[in-house]
Amino acid sequence: MIHRLPCPICDKELPIEIDGNSAIFPFCSPNCKNVDLYRWMNGEYFVSEKLTPEEMYEKISQFEESQEELPPESGESF
Ligand SMILES: [Zn+2]
Repeated sequence: MIHRLPCPICDKELPIEIDGNSAIFPFCSPNCKNVDLYRWMNGEYFVSEKLTPEEMYEKISQFEESQEELPPESGESF
């Protein structure tokens, strides 16, 4: 009997192809992995607010957009 782990982000069982050797383990998808990364970056593991994966994806896309708005590093010459 193999008991499949649930994804820590969305609580779905991991797809059969995800195992300990997978780049996205222990998450079910790259999106869930990004959600986890985003939470760490923003310290959201330390607040009680619980967002749905959909809300997190929205926040991530907003975050990525704000990153893109940053000007490239410039003004320094070698
Ligand atoms: Zn997931």
